[in-house]
Amino acid sequence: MEILFLGTSAGWPLPRLGCSCNICVSSDPKDKRFRPSILINSSLLLDAPIDTYQELKNLKVDCTKITHILLTHAHVDHIFGLYDLSHIYNRVTADYRLKEKINLIAPLGIIQAARRLLGVSLQAFKIKEAKPFDKIEIGNDASVSFIPVEHGSTEAYGIKVKAPKPIFYAPEFRRILPSSKKQIGDVEIAVIDGSSKTGYGQAKGHETIEEGIRLGKEIRAKKIFFTNIGHKTDKHENLVNFVKSQGGEKFSIAFDGLEVKV
Ligand SMILES: [Zn+2]
Ligand SMILES: [Zn+2]
Repeated sequence: MEILFLGTSAGWPLPRLGCSCNICVSSDPKDKRFRPSILINSSLLLDAPIDTYQELKNLKVDCTKITHILLTHAHVDHIFGLYDLSHIYNRVTADYRLKEKINLIAPLGIIQAARRLLGVSLQAFKIKEAKPFDKIEIGNDASVSFIPVEHGSTEAYGIKVKAPKPIFYAPEFRRILPSSKKQIGDVEIAVIDGSSKTGYGQAKGHETIEEGIRLGKEIRAKKIFFTNIGHKTDKHENLVNFVKSQGGEKFSIAFDGLEVKV
């Protein structure tokens, strides 16, 4: 099972426009981040951020293999890529009929909000409504479930994917309630919110990396990756040292283009 991090920034990419802080002027390619999403086994895309087109192009991903898109929540930085994904060629027959639509799976409130914010019908996708906590079989021995998380007043989820090994992806949240934590269970990797390092510059609706280290020690994940790396954090190299010294070897910082095999 392969996980490819397509993007790992918070709501705005790094470097930020017009900024000359130590992250934004860094020469380390790992400090250049687009909005967050992951691709599992070349076919399951978790979130469709604004930068999806560029991420797929830069990382030379064969986008015709994408069969499913799953959405954690309907903030613009997680859904605006749907617009470009609605026009993937090679998915049409010789007479220009669509061979097979990409499955778009999310709880109803997220589908509705995505439709409203994008201002298009989403008819390019085969929509499947997910019920929170329910396991949805998606073929090829894979299943997904949407586990509610607190993210300000926005409906949001962490997505547990078994394909066939279990992983948990929750790029944005302030808190995970005990009822949801229990449902994460044993996972190979958990990918969690790293939008600020400490309470300094902590964005509303988000946990800090410091808090994430405590959470990571609590849940049963073999490895924890932080994504959704914000501007009030640090250079990649310093963040890696920070999480390893505070949390131990199982903690890492994701970066754009990182591939993880489990
Ligand atoms: Zn900066
Ligand atoms: Zn959000």
